[in-house]
Amino acid sequence: MVIEQSLILLKPDAVQRNLIGKIISRFEDAGLKISAMKMVQPNKELAGKHYILDETWALKLFNRSKEAYEKEGKKMKFRDHIEMGNDIRNRNMVFLQEGPVVALVIEGPHAIELVRKMIGHTEPRQAIPGTIRGDFASIESYTVSDSKGRVLRNLVHASDTPENAKREIALWFNKNEVHNYKKDIDKHF
Ligand code: ADP
Ligand code: MG
Repeated sequence: MVIEQSLILLKPDAVQRNLIGKIISRFEDAGLKISAMKMVQPNKELAGKHYILDETWALKLFNRSKEAYEKEGKKMKFRDHIEMGNDIRNRNMVFLQEGPVVALVIEGPHAIELVRKMIGHTEPRQAIPGTIRGDFASIESYTVSDSKGRVLRNLVHASDTPENAKREIALWFNKNEVHNYKKDIDKHF
């Protein structure tokens, strides 16, 4: 059995909206383990390192957004994925510095995949009810964020691949802040 670790951030909007406890409860309720947790006020350097401009990410971002725009019969303002990636990265950096965030390492079997499923679609409008974004942020959409000139306020960040999880955990936590401890449930996995 592969036990995975994922880096989760409760973004500034989650803290502002008093959703810290509710969101963390969902991970605990699912049987996942909290291996690390702290509140951090990100500075520009940390925000920049968290949101690196990765071409594969930018391409996915571009295609996912384009699909949603075309459905609405709208044209995107970006020429290509690099231009869009840079713009969204800059705005994400601003958003992440808006206030303190809660950073966690969540651990368990298939933790990366499971947490992504639990948080739901990037655009909360498309996130199905029952997911964190679908339950707490569904009035947020590309249309709304564009009209305000900001990124989607979608409450949670979660690592999307084991490689990114490893990089992100090392960025947010020192080794001695990530705890290795046993729980009763572990004997079944
Ligand atoms: P996710 O957070 O679901 O992994 P991404 O990694 O692709 O999504 O994007 C990072 C963050 O950038 C998103 O959580 C969201 O806040 C913001 N974002 C992504 N796409 C857009 C977009 N088209 N318009 C505005 N903000 C966006
Ligand atoms: Mg992502």
